[in-house]
Amino acid sequence: MQPAPTTEQLLEIHGRIRGCVACRLHETRTQAVPGYGPVEARIMAVGEAPGEKEDREGRPFVGAAGTLLTELVESIGLTRRDIYITNTVRCRPPGNRDPEPDEVSACSHFLDEQIALLRPDVILILGRHALQRLLPDSAGISRLHGQRVFRDDRVYVPLYHPAAALYNGSLRETLFTDMQRVRGYLDEAEAARSLRGAPAEPETDPAADQLSLFAL
Ligand code: URA
Repeated sequence: MQPAPTTEQLLEIHGRIRGCVACRLHETRTQAVPGYGPVEARIMAVGEAPGEKEDREGRPFVGAAGTLLTELVESIGLTRRDIYITNTVRCRPPGNRDPEPDEVSACSHFLDEQIALLRPDVILILGRHALQRLLPDSAGISRLHGQRVFRDDRVYVPLYHPAAALYNGSLRETLFTDMQRVRGYLDEAEAARSLRGAPAEPETDPAADQLSLFAL
């Protein structure tokens, strides 16, 4: 069994993201937004890019879409402290424009490193930009939403982006229905882990756990 990942390892990646100048987005950012959540998280969510509020505060999904994301997470009996959240690109595109392919590509290795470190049970793909980045040859979000996609030993679940559901009641309803399926996928992963005899949660000492919750 691989050793449990540590907060220090995650913070080391965050530090490199904060100092990254690999694409033009660093010129206009207030700060980079590496990701937020505990290294022990069994569920990871990947959005598109930081918006204005995220750029100011340095944390992902702190605006209106973030409030809906919190409701979704809570609808399956979890809290934001159970989930690690990040984005396809870590610096705000000016005026919230779509990220350019070269910007996504410059940021790509950070996401790979974060996924490889956390090894989450389920990776939620929030919207089409994250889908294009993580499952580039797949069908679109309207076909795949709520389905479990197994790829390279990882489990992905594409979902509509919470921002798209803010003013669309039927998308919102679909998101909550899809989240119930995510609950089932998590339960199955948990059961598979206990069959393999692995601990349900990676073992950490309480001090490290605190650090993981509150350190960016
Ligand atoms: N906030 C984020 O951090 N990412 C998004 O994709 C949208 C809002």
